[in-house]
Amino acid sequence: MDRVTAYIGIGTNLGDRRSHVNHAVEQLDALPDSCLAAVAAVIETEPVGPITQRAYLNTIAAIETGLSPAVLLGCLHAIERQRGRDRRREQRWGPRTLDLDILIFGDRVVQEPGLTIPHRRLAERAFVLVPLAEVAPELLVPGTGHTVRSMLEALMDRSTGMDTNAEGSA
Ligand code: ATP
Ligand code: CA
Ligand code: CA
Repeated sequence: MDRVTAYIGIGTNLGDRRSHVNHAVEQLDALPDSCLAAVAAVIETEPVGPITQRAYLNTIAAIETGLSPAVLLGCLHAIERQRGRDRRREQRWGPRTLDLDILIFGDRVVQEPGLTIPHRRLAERAFVLVPLAEVAPELLVPGTGHTVRSMLEALMDRSTGMDTNAEGSA
């Protein structure tokens, strides 16, 4: 069975944030035909935007998986629901117990209804690129020709100084 390395973004700013992160990491390791390969340090990031909300905890995990991208996304949504996430009752980019995004899936570029990989806001988000650069700085982001490290450096050059709280947080 061919496995790929997938990178999953983890964000939480509601309830017991540490427990949500730990639960997500445990559940990623327990996914069918998958195992955990790495987890970055957890960082705290300030949300920006029109919605006043608590700071986020963010990190990323790498998994080796034989699942397809679509099946993996379904599994991530199921893990989110285990932590009480209910998309029908939340504001866009508002507070949430757990948000799991597929950032990168092997060398694949995926454009399907409801699923875009690499994640379409990857290059704008320090709260994703910082933990990703800790685990996989030289990884080429599929479809871009850029490494994670160069993407983060470009983002830092565009922003004023080392602002890891650049935008949103989930
Ligand atoms: P953002 O996409 O800006 O991080 P969000 O994570 O808050 O926003 P959600 O409400 O969690 O947005 O997800 C909205 C939809 O995004 C999901 O239903 C899912 O189908 C879609 N989606 C598209 N590409 C991806 C991806 N790579 N990972 C996770 N969800 C994705
Ligand atoms: Ca999401
Ligand atoms: Ca997200």
